[in-house]
Amino acid sequence: MHAYYADHFVLPLPEGHRFPMAKYRLLRDRIAQHLPGVSLQVALPASDRELALAHAPDYIDAIADGTLPPLAQREIGFPWSEAMAERARRSVGATVAASRVALHEGVAGNLAGGTHHAYADKGSGFCVFNDVAVAARLMQVEWARGDGGRTARPLQVAVIDLDVHQGNGTAHIFRGDHSVFTLSLHGARNFPFRKEPSDLDVELPDGCTDPDYLQALEQALDTLEQRFAPQLIFYLAGADPHEGDRLGRLAVTHDGLEARDRRVFDWAWQRRIPLVFAMAGGYGRNLDDTVLAQLNTWRVAWQYHQRWQNVRP
Ligand SMILES: [Zn+2]
Repeated sequence: MHAYYADHFVLPLPEGHRFPMAKYRLLRDRIAQHLPGVSLQVALPASDRELALAHAPDYIDAIADGTLPPLAQREIGFPWSEAMAERARRSVGATVAASRVALHEGVAGNLAGGTHHAYADKGSGFCVFNDVAVAARLMQVEWARGDGGRTARPLQVAVIDLDVHQGNGTAHIFRGDHSVFTLSLHGARNFPFRKEPSDLDVELPDGCTDPDYLQALEQALDTLEQRFAPQLIFYLAGADPHEGDRLGRLAVTHDGLEARDRRVFDWAWQRRIPLVFAMAGGYGRNLDDTVLAQLNTWRVAWQYHQRWQNVRP
């Protein structure tokens, strides 16, 4: 199974910055140690043309040149540097690469990504570019090209966003686009405080535990099935619904998160829909909790990747 990463493009942060940058490298180390069948590959950066499928050219330029107004830069939450700009491109490139592989192998993932707070023309909440939005649009372009224009209908894409924060940027980018269904299951009282309407939003109360969380997911998947027939799924497997998360406000256990992951991968597998996944958020009071939750996601993904390989011609 292919896993794409860019954590060696280190984004310099001031001392005491609250973003746990170390988690990406830790996850890569754990995967190398515990899941030797996962092939770890460096992501190529997304090009301007690819980014422009979901982002405004002026915004892409401002990120590249470091000319974003200070207020807009502060809303992202990272200071600008060339490394920040490069890393943001690489993270999109990782989801793009995983998407292409998933369409052939059924499952592939990005060790980072899921930067769902990024809008077309602005970043927010540690998100510079919206990797899933860019990759979804690019896969639609490549699919239409491969199809030789035989069908007018674009590739149907579903975004299953289970990060604890609402996927506001993704919802906004795809508003009114009937070829992409956005589902967000998130904390009602959590960031962003001004939410954007997704195709399906499910709000969870503070302190939500495993049974309620899993039941909400089940209902959301039922609704998705009634309303949309995806040909490709992007899964944001945020680790931040975990009970040990600093920002999550929910009380989902490791077992609960693993059951969640298994449900999503199984749902896609039962319908033979290729699935791309990204890590999205995770801010454990103990960073090991975040990395363990993510490693568990990769373990489940690996099992479903194996199933896919057994049915390939
Ligand atoms: Zn989050």
